[in-house]
Amino acid sequence: MDASPQKSADPAKDRQPLHDRPTAVWAHGTAILAIAILGVAAPFIILITGPRPPSGGLIWDFSMGLGFGALAIIALQFAMTGRLRWITHPFGADIIYLAHRYMSWGAVALMLSHFALLYVFHQPALGVLNPLEARWELTAGRVAMGSFVLLIVTSEFRKRLHLRHEWWRGLHLALALAGMAAAVAHVLGVGNLTDTNAKRLLWLGVTVGFIGVLVYTHVLRPWWQSRNPWHVVSNTAQRGGVHTLELAPTGRGLHHWKPGQFAWLKIERSPYSLIEHPFTISTAPEKGPNIAFSIKPLGDHSSDLAKTPVGARAYVDGPYGAFSIDRMAEADGFVMIAGGVGITPILSNLHALEARGDTRPVILIYGNPSWDEVSFRDELAAMQDRIDLTIVHVLDDPPDDWDGESGHIDDAVLKRHLSDQTRDWPHLLCGPAPMIAAVTDALQDLGVAEHHIDNEIFELV
Ligand SMILES: Cc1cc2nc3c(=O)[nH]c(=O)nc-3n(C[C@H](O)[C@H](O)[C@H](O)COP(=O)(O)OP(=O)(O)OC[C@H]3O[C@@H](n4cnc5c(N)ncnc54)[C@H](O)[C@@H]3O)c2cc1C
Repeated sequence: MDASPQKSADPAKDRQPLHDRPTAVWAHGTAILAIAILGVAAPFIILITGPRPPSGGLIWDFSMGLGFGALAIIALQFAMTGRLRWITHPFGADIIYLAHRYMSWGAVALMLSHFALLYVFHQPALGVLNPLEARWELTAGRVAMGSFVLLIVTSEFRKRLHLRHEWWRGLHLALALAGMAAAVAHVLGVGNLTDTNAKRLLWLGVTVGFIGVLVYTHVLRPWWQSRNPWHVVSNTAQRGGVHTLELAPTGRGLHHWKPGQFAWLKIERSPYSLIEHPFTISTAPEKGPNIAFSIKPLGDHSSDLAKTPVGARAYVDGPYGAFSIDRMAEADGFVMIAGGVGITPILSNLHALEARGDTRPVILIYGNPSWDEVSFRDELAAMQDRIDLTIVHVLDDPPDDWDGESGHIDDAVLKRHLSDQTRDWPHLLCGPAPMIAAVTDALQDLGVAEHHIDNEIFELV
């Protein structure tokens, strides 16, 4: 009997892990959306199907509905931000964080409308605002509303408020916890819609769910990490001020890791610390179990990380993200466009093509301030001998004898190097947000469809 792996008729399928096939990703994403919609609808389904409480009039009932909707959406946020890989897998962590941002605005808008309707049309039911005299359950509702409003304001204006990321993260967690606990206390205390077992079970489920996600995220996962530390085995300075840290696992390596993904990294800190930063794994899974992070010192933390000594202990939470050629098995070739340190996920994808002997053509357009600051330029040049890679360097400030592209990566540069043949290839973009926006517009003007453009921005909103 032939023991060799069965090849399917479609070579693209052989290149792609089962769980990354478009139909699997689509089905997985649809299942998550359906569960989320069901979660938000649950309080209403229980209300409609069970014995109905006496109506307080249209506006009263509507206002209660808004309050329940707000709470259901907020409860979902704990699952969305708990870095549960089952949830981030189909969409990518950046999309989940973006959805979290907009859903939180929506929930707070519903919550404020719930209060405003009661304030305008049923003022006596609200009683006094003074917490010393007010009913505790109504004060709990106001504490919840205040916490969530503060949470949105400190997140939207973090930079203007000069809040360091670490402080903001601690505050965000504290406000979310206080707000959610106060909101559940409000619902249970008011008791209007908690009069049956099904309704009480729902709120118990919500409470257990959000506490469960917090315990998993902040206790169980760090505990698991504490049993699987990594060690820095080298720190190599690259051009452009980038430092590549190579890490070796002492226990289990990364599981289900795909090129282009990232992880949250803690070095010389407790695994329970809230201070951790996301960095792309710049090598490919095939080159494991060691992994590498290439870090550009852009602020306090990244500057400290760049100086990490060999032997330092590290904790790695990952992998996350969907900026990967593994999602694009059907592609005939790739256009990759990087600005500065945005080369890291692209480098990882190129390493994977190289390790797999994948000969699909790649056009890499790589922008940098100057020739001396082009990180990995020798490594990339060497790769050209092993994979079908065309590199177009674009320099802001080229040397005198430079005969390549200069200035920014704009429509003229793209027109010169991309052809009709490349229009339907995936375009993978990574770099500063303004560069991504400008290049996306230019690509669309050239006729590249939106679904052929994928980007990774080094900032989670
Ligand atoms: C998915 C992803 C992949 C990344 N990959 C790389 C990479 O391969 N190489 C690289 O050099 N950089 C990468 N970054 C960027 C890197 O995470 C930031 O440069 C670093 O966190 C900045 O921290 P700092 O304290 O040095 O700088 P600061 O000046 O304190 O922060 C600069 C900005 O970085 C963001 N930031 C700061 N701390 C955090 C944090 N804990 N979590 C999330 N964002 C934070 C904030 O928006 C902040 O305004 C990546 C970012 C993301 C989101």
